[in-house]
Amino acid sequence: MRLASIFFKSSVFFLFAGCTIASLPPAVPQAELEAEVESQRALAAQTLRDNTQHIADLSWPIVANNAALCANFVEYRSGLWIAHEQHVPTSWFDSRDESKLRIGEEAEIWGIAKDSPAATTVLAVGDRILSIADEVVSNSKRARGVLSKALAASEGKPIALRAARGKQTIEVELGSVATCRSKIRVTSRSSINAKANGRTITINNGLIDFARNDEELQFVIAHELAHNVASHVPKARAGAGIGLVFDIALAGYGRVWAGGVFSYLGARAMSKKYEREADYLAMYYLANANVDLNGIESFWRRMASMDASSTGFALTHPSTPERFVMMRMTRDEIEEKRVNGEGLVPESK
Ligand SMILES: [Zn+2]
Repeated sequence: MRLASIFFKSSVFFLFAGCTIASLPPAVPQAELEAEVESQRALAAQTLRDNTQHIADLSWPIVANNAALCANFVEYRSGLWIAHEQHVPTSWFDSRDESKLRIGEEAEIWGIAKDSPAATTVLAVGDRILSIADEVVSNSKRARGVLSKALAASEGKPIALRAARGKQTIEVELGSVATCRSKIRVTSRSSINAKANGRTITINNGLIDFARNDEELQFVIAHELAHNVASHVPKARAGAGIGLVFDIALAGYGRVWAGGVFSYLGARAMSKKYEREADYLAMYYLANANVDLNGIESFWRRMASMDASSTGFALTHPSTPERFVMMRMTRDEIEEKRVNGEGLVPESK
């Protein structure tokens, strides 16, 4: 009994000794904590606004100058980028929807692409959209839906848009032009990743931060656009039998397959050729957008410099050395066409 008691006491002692820390950090007052949560969320929202404006500017020449190459995969676009809501759980343990705070829930303008029809209006980043084509919009999701429907119906004719700037109301006529189709969005994620799912292109904050220059980011946008334009998702789905996305990811590059185990066998056979085609088409999209192609293949050297495993054999992606060399060869091919005064159209079988 006595022995048991000693044993119990000593094990409790060791239990607490194992959990406790020796130093005394200051206890954080709740009010200060909450205020800091607010400022960090405001910072995250500002980063999204800044990155959205940046991607709006960089993607515009690509989507607007390649409508001819995008064949039937086109849509009318104004160059206006509306906020995109991001789910921010209040805690890791609480995933109920109603407990989530959001960034980007308001129908606020986050980007106006340089040289786009939206840039010719008085609209500015930060303006809050009130109505589009006489339809009142109350949040960003609704505003994006109504805008995309109104643009599709307009076929390039101007649509009426009302917005608020403080207490002032602004009314504009918003034009649009035929562009390569694909919704493009920036997400509040730090991982170095971009992906395409057939309709949408998603670019993480982390990838925008990783890119050394605008041309690298434009290559990523053009690469993901090529996946969508060339219908890689439905084609690969037919082979792999499951929904999937194509991505450029640094972490675990070439080894991770978003479709999971079931599409793994399909991916082995099919994914590499789609990646090669996306790189190839991307070079033409960039050339038609007058993006400087010199040294753009260095993107793959930088990927390799961050993760040596990307230089080796992978099931799902061509290796970074292969992609580097193929893109350099494509640039030479494009240069030759320019010299000969030929149209910048990709070679086909
Ligand atoms: Zn890809």
